[in-house]
Amino acid sequence: MAKRVLSGIRATGRLHLGNYLGAVKGMLELQDRSDLETLFCVVDLHATTTPYDPKTLPQNTRSVILDYLACGINPGKSALYVQSDLADLIAQLSFYFSTVETIARMQHLPTFKDKVKQHPNNVTMALLNYPLLMAADILIYKAELVPVGIDQEPHLEVAREIARKMNDTYGTKFPEPVRFATSGEYVPSLTGEGKMSKSVEGSYISLTDNLELITKKLAGAPTDSGKGEIVPPTGGVANLLKFVELFEGIEKRKMYEEKYMGEGIRYGDLKKELAEAIYKELKPIQEKRKELEHKTSYVDEVIKSGAEKARKIAQETVLEVKEKMGLVKKLRVNNQ
Ligand code: ADP
Repeated sequence: MAKRVLSGIRATGRLHLGNYLGAVKGMLELQDRSDLETLFCVVDLHATTTPYDPKTLPQNTRSVILDYLACGINPGKSALYVQSDLADLIAQLSFYFSTVETIARMQHLPTFKDKVKQHPNNVTMALLNYPLLMAADILIYKAELVPVGIDQEPHLEVAREIARKMNDTYGTKFPEPVRFATSGEYVPSLTGEGKMSKSVEGSYISLTDNLELITKKLAGAPTDSGKGEIVPPTGGVANLLKFVELFEGIEKRKMYEEKYMGEGIRYGDLKKELAEAIYKELKPIQEKRKELEHKTSYVDEVIKSGAEKARKIAQETVLEVKEKMGLVKKLRVNNQ
């Protein structure tokens, strides 16, 4: 049987370069492998674990689906669906998982602590359960490979732990999923500190940004005098060089590093070239996205058939878990 691949992105607006390089690029690479079965989704249930607007959620969900398709996710190869279309099965499985996971373990996750800091008045059960829901997203298909950024590693560790505990406790046969890493597994923020993220204003470039906007955003990225004995390993300059590497290649990065230690870098030129290189990669995506915005029934059909394909596999797993947990009689055996 083909190994399965699962990945999802939260429905919190349009994708940025971090999502694209850390997650979507990995998905694109894996959907072309004939030994793998790929399933990708928009995790709208996860979007409800922090404060959100129910009125704009459907639009945000749709927007991520369009971004996926515009980036090249091919519904002929990958099942593309919306998580809440399978809420009955995924949320159910995450409840079963909660029987083998402790509250203390969830409270100590760095991702949970970060969210508590961001939303101190909204520390809900849903937020605490976030990693269980993600484990259910993956394990419901017994997926073994998960193309996501490095920030998701603690959650994958939880998914592996749950797989082990479920297998030990109930005798299920869950595999232990591993992360599929891309060269952009950690895309830094434009601010010079931390990672690029939707929730940090000024940190990101969206896939829908035009050349003018990209140029403007890069202009605000912090730099230094352009010269020195060693290239700074962290901060604004290090981040700019990471972008050069990701969009213009490692040779170009090396060239700038030599310049830094020699005659000096002119950041105006570097930023102009970099903006053009980023835009060159985004332009075809933006053009395809515009076309897709008018193909409403096509997109509806993609989501519907993706959910049907996903549901078939998910149902099997949930039934198996229920049987193992003693929640249903073995109905499948001779129909007794
Ligand atoms: P955000 O952090 O912007 O809210 P999500 O949590 O929805 O984005 O993450 C969606 C996917 O994009 C995940 O696979 C995540 O690991 C990846 N991702 C997000 N930000 C980055 C980044 N700065 N670098 C690499 N991957 C990232």
